[in-house]
Amino acid sequence: MATDISKLTLTARWQDLTTGMMIHAGGTSEEFNTGEWTSVKPHVKEEDCRQCLLCAQACPDSAIPVNKNERVKVDLKHCKGCGICAKVCPFDAIEMEGL
Ligand code: SF4
Ligand code: SF4
Repeated sequence: MATDISKLTLTARWQDLTTGMMIHAGGTSEEFNTGEWTSVKPHVKEEDCRQCLLCAQACPDSAIPVNKNERVKVDLKHCKGCGICAKVCPFDAIEMEGL
């Protein structure tokens, strides 16, 4: 069973949820805004960024988009605040900030 998450409410029962370990269609993770449950977010110090794009490759949620070979604004709807981008940036251009 695949859950229509747009119809889920706080009173949903576990029986209403998508069966675990099942993939029902491609691209479904886009529907889950993991950014809703983070307590920190990355702040990019643009003056220090050298566009090496390492952060975009390392982000487990594909929340750092690349357009025409340039990193663009972090997708905060899907960033889960893990801090991996800040850890891998060789130029210390990313700081994690509390919300
Ligand atoms: S890893 Fe750091 S320097 Fe490289 S694109 Fe990301 S923010 Fe910029
Ligand atoms: S904090 Fe984690 S999820 Fe958010 S942009 Fe950085 S690597 Fe991606």
